[in-house]
Parts: sequence; structure tokens; C-alpha cells
Amino acid sequence: MTRSADVVVIGGGQAGLAAGYHLRRLGVEHVILDAQAAPGGAWQHTWDSLRLFSPPQYSSLPGRLMPAQPGETYPDARHVVEYLADYEKRYELPVERGVWVDAVHRDGTHLRVESEAGDWRARTVISATGTWTRPFIPAVPGRREFSGRQLHTVQYKSPVEFAGRRVIVVGGGNSGAQVAADLASVAEVTWATQRPPRYLADDIDGRALFDAATARRQALDAGSTDTGGVASLGDIVAVPPVRAARDAGLLHAKPMFTRLTRTGAEWADGTLAEADAVIWCTGFRPALAHFASLRLRGTRGHIATVGTRAVDDPRLHLLGYGDWTGPASATLIGVGRPARDAAREIASLLS
Ligand code: FAD
Repeated sequence: MTRSADVVVIGGGQAGLAAGYHLRRLGVEHVILDAQAAPGGAWQHTWDSLRLFSPPQYSSLPGRLMPAQPGETYPDARHVVEYLADYEKRYELPVERGVWVDAVHRDGTHLRVESEAGDWRARTVISATGTWTRPFIPAVPGRREFSGRQLHTVQYKSPVEFAGRRVIVVGGGNSGAQVAADLASVAEVTWATQRPPRYLADDIDGRALFDAATARRQALDAGSTDTGGVASLGDIVAVPPVRAARDAGLLHAKPMFTRLTRTGAEWADGTLAEADAVIWCTGFRPALAHFASLRLRGTRGHIATVGTRAVDDPRLHLLGYGDWTGPASATLIGVGRPARDAAREIASLLS
């Protein structure tokens, strides 16, 4: 069965919902197809102790402030899931759940969105599939040799199963710091980072990150010098659990090891560390396999865009993946503006 819509939004996480909010405001007919069985996008799957790096008022989608979480300055992921579920209900966003989109094809003046639940004939498509389904692990020598357990952040849930174990946590970003802090009091943790961890000042919140990302985008658009964006402030937000572990002297980073051995890791100076598990907190890539057959231009796994619009096809927009689709667009507070711009462009194209 083939159905039709002016806009098919692929992905019903925060980016897909922000797009739905603005399309609805502009009266543009649309449907949101989401692979998950329940609302909340990637937030449903993060580890139990994860804390947002910003207070709720700086973690809000357009139209509705995230309420405070009782007793918490930095909300947890469960709170975000509840907020997103409430958001989609409040704005009656047309989300179809349990629908995995396999591919998007050109079909004359339209696009054909191929899904397990049937095809959609669309005039335009917004892709908002995030990065969580594409975890990245770097090619490190010896990875296949290591006989212990290896997992990526996406598989990490809680420290309980690592109690008393020797664990190497890899990655100097927020995920690496939060996972290392989570494990520090129950496991023997070695934290390996490519460069020494750079903590943001303890009083910096999500708003400063958002401002830095916006300033960088504006500078680049104006042809001025790159301000460095969020990275210029540091890599790690000192959320309370990270701050507590750091201040208790439990977070010691070592440089990145040069290879994994059968029983652990080896550093350039010959130091060895035995390990039962390695947790790779090494980031993600955009989930864009559904665009493969369109052969869109791009570099480093990205698709060339102007704002959110694909350079090669004005009927396609990409939303939420990272700064390349709008300043801080991979954050709750940052995705609103590019979502608004995408919806406006689409409304004007359709009319
Ligand atoms: P997702 O939440 O991943 O949603 C995409 C949806 O699309 C999912 O439901 C997915 O199942 C679905 N999908 C994917 N492919 C398909 C397909 N082919 N067909 C159909 N559906 C599909 N941001 C903040 O603002 N504050 C923070 O404190 C913060 N902390 C973070 C901590 C961690 C560890 C991580 C990883 C990210 C954090 N972020 C934070 C960043 C950001 O908010 C999240 O990455 C966010 O989940 C991105 O939202 P999204 O809607 O783009 O993608």
C-alpha cells in the first residue's frame, strides 16, 4: 500500500518532534515515521545515571519549557523521555511508531519513502534519524585479540555488572567522563583519552554551549575566523556526578593506549594494564543509510547542506545531526531554530 504526505519526517526523536511542531504551526501536512515502539528517541536507551549537561530551561524544544525534575538541577534521561512523550501528545504530532525506513528514492516530482510498513509518496522529506543507531569505534590495533568484553556507550547501562572488575573506559568527552565517574567507586577504572580531559568551568551550563555554537556558525557563514565553537570552552561539562568523582580524586586520565592485547592494553612507553572489559565512549556517526541510493554529495559521512537543505535536492532536509545541520542542532535547545527554518523553507517550496 502506498500512502501520500506533503512531508515525511523520518525519525521521531527530539529533532523529528521539533520539525513536527513547526510544520503543524505552518499548517503543512506531514507524518513522522519512527522506528521505536515508544516516544523518546535515543533518550530511552542511555545509561541509568546519565544527567543532562544543562538545567531544564536550557533543554527545551520550541513552544514548551521542560519542567524541572524534583530534586535535580540536571535532569536525567527518564525525565527527558517523559517530556518528549508529553510534547508529542500536547501538540498532537502525527507520529507512526515501529516503522523503520529502509530507503528514500526519487520518483519524478516526488520522493518514495520505503518502509517496512509500506511506502509513502512524499513531496519533501526531513531526515531526523540521529546518530545513536550508528555507534563509532576507532580502528585500534589488537581489538580482535582482546579476550575480555568490549562494548560501546550504547550498550552501557549501569556499573552493577562491572563491580570489582578492571575496566578501561576510552574517550575524553562527556560520555567517557560520565561513564568513568559512574564506575569509579565500584570498579578498577583506567580512563584513556586522546588528550588530557578539558573540563568546562563548573558554572558553565547549556546556554553557554548553545551561544558558543551559534557564534561559531555565524562566524563561518560570514567568512570570519573559526571561533572554535563549543570545543573552545572545553569537552566535559562538570555535571554533579562527574564533579564529585573528579573532586574525590577518582578520575585520572591516561593517554590513549597504542594497542589492545589479549588481556588488556599497552601504552607507547611499554606500560601494560590488565582489563576485563573495554568500554568505547568514542562517539557516533549520522544514521543516513536510507539516503544511500540518492547518491548525495558529502564528506566524512555528512551530506552537503545549505542550512538543513541538501545541496543536491531541495526536497530533502537533514535535521539534528550536528553543527553541520545548524548550530547545536544535536541538542534539545539547539534543534528548534533549524527545525523552524526547515519548516519555513518547505512551506515555501510546497506553495
Ligand atoms: P534520536 O534521539 O536518536 O532520534 C532519532 C529517532 O529516529 C530514533 O527514535 C530512531 O529510532 C529513529 N530512526 C533512526 N533511523 C531510522 C529509520 N531509518 N527509520 C525510522 N526511524 C529511524 N543534548 C542536550 O541537549 N543535552 C544533554 O545533556 C545531552 N547529553 C547527551 C548525552 C549523550 C551520552 C548523548 C549521546 C547525547 C547527548 N545529547 C544532549 C545530544 C542530543 O540531545 C541527543 O543525541 C539526541 O538524542 C538527538 O536527537 P535526535 O532526535 O536527533 O536523534
